[in-house]
Amino acid sequence: MSEAYFYPNIWGRGVLVAAEEILGKNGVNALLNLAGLPQYIDNYPPDNIKKDFPFEHVSAIQKALWDMYGSKGARVFATRGGEETFTYSLDKYEKVQKAAQAAMALGSARTRLKAGLLFFAKFFNTVSDQKVRVEEDEAAWKWIIERCPMCWGRTADEPVCHLAVGVLNSASKWATGGEILRIKAVECIAMGAKEGIILLEKPAE
Ligand SMILES: [Zn+2]
Repeated sequence: MSEAYFYPNIWGRGVLVAAEEILGKNGVNALLNLAGLPQYIDNYPPDNIKKDFPFEHVSAIQKALWDMYGSKGARVFATRGGEETFTYSLDKYEKVQKAAQAAMALGSARTRLKAGLLFFAKFFNTVSDQKVRVEEDEAAWKWIIERCPMCWGRTADEPVCHLAVGVLNSASKWATGGEILRIKAVECIAMGAKEGIILLEKPAE
């Protein structure tokens, strides 16, 4: 498989830092060995925004978590890892943080959340090779992942892209000052779907 698509280094780093917080140093080492990525042991990706962390590695780490902890463990972990990665990258992309706050300054919770989602979709498409877009109906927004690093090259019989759920959890909490939305992965390319879909239930108007 090609290594043509990348995440910024700090997202790869954020995932491993989160893993270390939960699993400890030895746990991360075991995880990286199982993922076939021993080159990152004691050598996490650098703390910069260069697009250099291959989709294959994002996916291999998620898969190794799955193999070690089962679907439920992997889900808990990925959700936490996504939160960590989001918070971590806000600190890094300081201008983005300010621009996002400006985009979400006005209107109802719904209006601000929608502005935030559109903003973050554009952000993902700009700083990484992940491709996403946002659609909506009455009840929910859909975070649609057209090119997905989290399940890159995987097959599964349930959605596996929980890292995205964690990122969106954290993003929406941040955007609303603490409101918790119901967010769920419903479609996944690993299951044979054309695109991955994460549903975000709209809050009451
Ligand atoms: Zn996926």
